[in-house]
Amino acid sequence: MVGFKCADIGMKCGFAINGGSSKEEVLQEAQVHARVAHGMATIPPDVAAKVSSAIH
Ligand SMILES: [Zn+2]
Repeated sequence: MVGFKCADIGMKCGFAINGGSSKEEVLQEAQVHARVAHGMATIPPDVAAKVSSAIH
């Protein structure tokens, strides 16, 4: 299982994904969350890299 916590990339945010089936799926969910909750229309490359390394 794959998970991600927004707090892991330094956001003051309680959002977490648990039990994703793949890193790609979790990354996609994280992108939707970033757009909806954090107003990021597109994910800057440095943030994407942080998210990618925070997914475990
Ligand atoms: Zn968040």
